Amino acid sequence: RGLAIGIDIGGTKVAAGVVDAEGRVLDERRRATPGSDPRAVERVIVDLVRELGENHRIASIGIGAAGWMDLDGGTVLFSPHLAWRNEPLRDNLQKLLRRPVLLANDADAAAWAEWRFGAGRGESRLVCITLGTGIGGAMVMDGRLERGRFGVAGEFGHQVAVPGGHRCECGNRGCWEQYASGNALGREARELARRKSPLAYELLKASGGVADDITGLTVSQLAKSGDPASKELLEEVGQWLGLGLANLAAALDPGTFVIGGGLCDAGELLVGPARQAFTRNLTGRGFRPPAAIRLAELGPRAGMIGAADLSRVSGRLQG
Ligand code: BGC
Ligand code: ZN
Repeated sequence: RGLAIGIDIGGTKVAAGVVDAEGRVLDERRRATPGSDPRAVERVIVDLVRELGENHRIASIGIGAAGWMDLDGGTVLFSPHLAWRNEPLRDNLQKLLRRPVLLANDADAAAWAEWRFGAGRGESRLVCITLGTGIGGAMVMDGRLERGRFGVAGEFGHQVAVPGGHRCECGNRGCWEQYASGNALGREARELARRKSPLAYELLKASGGVADDITGLTVSQLAKSGDPASKELLEEVGQWLGLGLANLAAALDPGTFVIGGGLCDAGELLVGPARQAFTRNLTGRGFRPPAAIRLAELGPRAGMIGAADLSRVSGRLQG
């Protein structure tokens, strides 16, 4: 009765779940994302749908994918972290699964879930940021996902924050996601460890002495258990996050920012410094109501929940 499958395809993980009409996840599965082959990603999706469909009567299927969808929601135009280039993903999946599929951007799906069931409930102007491999961005304005003229609005992660800065997977330099994502956190930690800084002692210990094996997750876990260097690294990412939110507030004036994605597992260690940097950089501060900055309530499941829900109410996806 009204069950949908939602699948969230990120830079590293594919997460699939059976979701009911109230946004509850009844059953779920996770796989690694096969990075370089679009056909392999399709095969993983088909497998997951089959597995989950064995035990549940499924009414619809929604996919949230880390890529830029065209307005019609059929084609992934581009993905910085995966191999899609003008990929007719929806048609391919509909042929393989022999049923209709809704396709959305992963951050759009997560924002939708947080607006329907999570930290963004009741907000008329919501901006959602997901921090994982990259930065996902999305807006729910007056109960609708704002997708722009061509479907690719909300790519906040690729706003240039540092001209000439780190090279981004999108091809440019200095994108915001190179400074405020899980990838950024891992890169900074690896650099610290390669310098053999005594500060990196715990980081190296956690990765078996191999600097190259340190990831953003290593850092956020160590930060939570109190490692000062990891806390510092996370604080720095939080500051970049807050600066970007202040820029977004200048452009969009939302009532609430919801911060989700894998990195939000770090909680206040990340969002605390982000709030401070936001307050320090917000234009007109002291003379305007500041937006609230909240942690996502649905955590890493937001993408799958939102994709499932959108497959039920897909009219809301189009402007
Ligand atoms: C992509 C977005 C995606 C985000 C999170 C960014 O690099 O451009 O489309 O939503 O990563 O996966
Ligand atoms: Zn970029």
